[in-house]
Amino acid sequence: MITYEEAIAITEEYKPGCEIEYVPLIDSLGRFLAEDIKSDIDMPPFNKTAVDGYACRREDLFKELVINEVVPAGVTAKKRIETGECAKIMTGAALPDGADWIFMVEDAQEDNDRVKFTGKPGKNNIAKRGEDIEKGDTVLLAGKRIEPQDIAVLATVGAVRVPVSKPLRVGIISTGNELVEPHNKPKPSHIRNSNAYQLIAQTMKAGAEAYYYGIAHDKEEEIFEMLKRAISECEIILLTGGVSMGDFDMVPAVLQKAGVRIIFDRVAVQPGKPTTFGVHKDALVFGLPGNPVSSFIQFELFVKAMIHRAMGAIQSESDRKHKLAKDYSRRRTRRMAWVPVNINDDESVTPVEYHGSAHINALPGAYGVMKIPVGVSEIKKGEIVDVRQI
Ligand code: AMP
Ligand code: MG
Repeated sequence: MITYEEAIAITEEYKPGCEIEYVPLIDSLGRFLAEDIKSDIDMPPFNKTAVDGYACRREDLFKELVINEVVPAGVTAKKRIETGECAKIMTGAALPDGADWIFMVEDAQEDNDRVKFTGKPGKNNIAKRGEDIEKGDTVLLAGKRIEPQDIAVLATVGAVRVPVSKPLRVGIISTGNELVEPHNKPKPSHIRNSNAYQLIAQTMKAGAEAYYYGIAHDKEEEIFEMLKRAISECEIILLTGGVSMGDFDMVPAVLQKAGVRIIFDRVAVQPGKPTTFGVHKDALVFGLPGNPVSSFIQFELFVKAMIHRAMGAIQSESDRKHKLAKDYSRRRTRRMAWVPVNINDDESVTPVEYHGSAHINALPGAYGVMKIPVGVSEIKKGEIVDVRQI
């Protein structure tokens, strides 16, 4: 059995390859940017007014001014501002030549093509060309996951074909004679397959593409056939179930038969000790424990980071520090435990009711899982714990 830290260090050495593709602007939402994006223009592209108001010369601010024209946004002023003159100008319009000041409509009294400034002089209300972005500036970094606000930046700089990482293909196989698909009512001794769908969802949320191969019975040939297909089609394969010590846990044997070199098969984490990781020349393979909470947490700990590394994502996953709101204790301390917790209004965390790795409905209400290091049996109320958000 290896430690969590050793297992992380090992998996970090493996990085599946990932290609780039160019997608239309709006299709890039949720994708990982594959190249830095630079601006092809200054923003604003011209000196513009940030308010509806009157453009004049600063030295004329306290004179009664003649309005020489009205300038809507999108139109260039025809006249130059001379002494004693101003132009009425709308938000977003370019500053007319000769003007160096704009006062707001709210601070003005207009009467018969003439206007007087009635406010206190403050700022000039001019948004200067290039003050937000200069031509050639890098506006978004490779590896960023594209959010709606990034779409605005991409649109502004004309990046209409967006370079993104192609989604990594993640194959998912459930194993177990007791499993039926969710649309079936389980017969006695059967349970519904929840892992596959949970893993599909985790894979999609991580930005990769899920390929689901179905349920394999605990028969070597059945698992072998699905695994072979998955290896030929995917970069990462996730099998669930069949990695413990039971008589029908045949995943490790099948992995070897399929040419997968097993790198580790026991990790000192709870839940999820039998987590298995192996390498095939065409794919990386995880054998995840059958219990749904274990499978969920092991994906979060190992698989998600691997997908993100492969897709060039800026790594943002890290555990956050929170105060523990209630004493915590456990008896065995040989493994690192990950315990589902809720978050309270004061940002402290409290362990949720949790009966173990099969207790699937402990997770939906949880804010995250807190890390209990090896050797630690007690954490007192008020102490700081590391929490991974889920
Ligand atoms: P195993 O790892 O195959 O020994 O399975 C451990 C436990 O997880 C058993 O109680 C299984 O019935 C359960 N289990 C295995 N696969 C799944 C699955 N796909 N969905 C839900 N529970 C599962
Ligand atoms: Mg099983």
